Amino acid sequence: MPVPVPVPVPVPVPVPRACPRAAPRVVLLVVLLVVLLTSAALAVAARGPVDDLASYDPMTRCAQAPKAGTKVLGAWLVTTYGGGGGASWRPCSGGTSEHEDGRAIDWTLDAGDPTDAASAQAFLTTVFATDAQGNIAATARRMGVMYVIWDDTMYPAWTGFAAQPYLSPGCPDVSTCRPTLRHRDHVHISLSRAGARARTSWYVGRVGRSAQK
Ligand SMILES: [Zn+2]
Repeated sequence: MPVPVPVPVPVPVPVPRACPRAAPRVVLLVVLLVVLLTSAALAVAARGPVDDLASYDPMTRCAQAPKAGTKVLGAWLVTTYGGGGGASWRPCSGGTSEHEDGRAIDWTLDAGDPTDAASAQAFLTTVFATDAQGNIAATARRMGVMYVIWDDTMYPAWTGFAAQPYLSPGCPDVSTCRPTLRHRDHVHISLSRAGARARTSWYVGRVGRSAQK
């Protein structure tokens, strides 16, 4: 007669609760972090090194329309910060103006309105900031900004965007100067030729190659 084999009684395995639930969350967070860091690194890599500070390069001949980069940056300003206007083209007048060669933006803001003034200041602070690699005015350089005029002040790329008092050649002094000539009702931005053609790094992914004329 066979000897009965004892059947092993299963020992209940305690099921830990917190850890198995936490583990996938940690893995998910790590994966998300890696994806975010990778995409940020790729975005920086796609933009490449910071562009040089623009030098003063005045209009030499008229254009028939604003350039692609001018249009994109003008629209981006209004979308990002509010206000109105954008790329501002004018026909040939016989003078010298980036408005006539498609490189100028008139971004409509009122220096007397605290919200508008804050928008302009937010833009200036952002584009003239030094980046993590120590490049001064990194975003303005990437945008191909040649100079900005706002609220009696000019910021030229060729001086590293150092603020300097601005008085329109059409005004004997500030007190008799109209708000438009004082640039108190709009921010004027002139772009370098490369910036206006969307050939500086800020325009990568914003303007197609066929539009970079
Ligand atoms: Zn203007």
